[in-house]
Amino acid sequence: MKPLNFDDLKGKVCVLTGGGGAIGASLAEFLARRGVRMAILDLNGARAEEVAKQVKRETGTPAVGIKTNVLEKESLEQAAEAIHKEFGKVDFLINAAGGNSPKGTTEAEFLESVSEQDLEKSIYGLDIEGFRWVFDLNLSGTLLPTLVFTRDMLDLGSGAVVNFSSMSALRPLTRVGAYSAAKAAVTNLTEWLAVHLAKKNIRINAVAPGFFVGEQNRFLLFDEKTGELSPRGNKIIMNTPMGRFGDYGEIHGTVAFLLSGMASFITGVTVPIDGGFNAYSGV
Ligand code: NAD
Repeated sequence: MKPLNFDDLKGKVCVLTGGGGAIGASLAEFLARRGVRMAILDLNGARAEEVAKQVKRETGTPAVGIKTNVLEKESLEQAAEAIHKEFGKVDFLINAAGGNSPKGTTEAEFLESVSEQDLEKSIYGLDIEGFRWVFDLNLSGTLLPTLVFTRDMLDLGSGAVVNFSSMSALRPLTRVGAYSAAKAAVTNLTEWLAVHLAKKNIRINAVAPGFFVGEQNRFLLFDEKTGELSPRGNKIIMNTPMGRFGDYGEIHGTVAFLLSGMASFITGVTVPIDGGFNAYSGV
């Protein structure tokens, strides 16, 4: 057997959906530094192009940004055509497009009473369309790119996919019912696809990030005025044995490992990146 290291990443072609996002943009740069040619796909086309430009400038590795909707097969197929022209066939796929909506989130953690007001703040007050939207983005938004881009991997005789699940898939978080269920479906689909494609040497794995501070959740975790932890932020820290939030950079190494030949016998797993949150019962 050949010695295992990260060198086999060099020169590979990787599609990254949600590449304009907080995690995606930094991950693109990390992989490009290891010589991976990145196709950065995002619904926000201008942002995808901006990230690709920055990646090229900072790393010297070719990168391309393409406006793509992960919920439309035609849009994904157009992106595939552009990538083939630019780089050739796709070796890796990272499904990072995903997220939550206030329409799939309850205002209350618990249903305290059956008053009209409390019912409205609970699951009974949620619009089913909000639930559907979150499910579609996270689940179909993972499946459709996988269907389009693993076709190249079938031709190549090998490939690797990394999906973005979440800690809320493994330990459902209060309020975010739709997101938790949708990410649990992503973890389940990861296992299902891993089995389905195993004989074609295509590995499908996922990461389940715990709590990271980004622009969109900073003021849920910290008080905007005092900078102190918010009650929810404090609860998270109390339940994270390592006693801190994660840094986005701490996701990169796991994704690179799962894509590389170092993980050549690993398929169907979801790796928690959570400072021990998943392992801790609170006692
Ligand atoms: P983000 O919101 O910063 O980025 C998501 C990107 O996806 C955005 O650039 C957005 O434009 C793009 N996008 C949305 N809908 C799309 C569509 N239909 N087609 C193409 N692109 C679309 O999110 P992030 O924090 O970078 O998270 C990346 C992934 O990690 C998501 O799946 C998220 O659910 C998951 N995750 C994040 C955290 C965290 O702490 N940030 C924790 C656990 C899991």
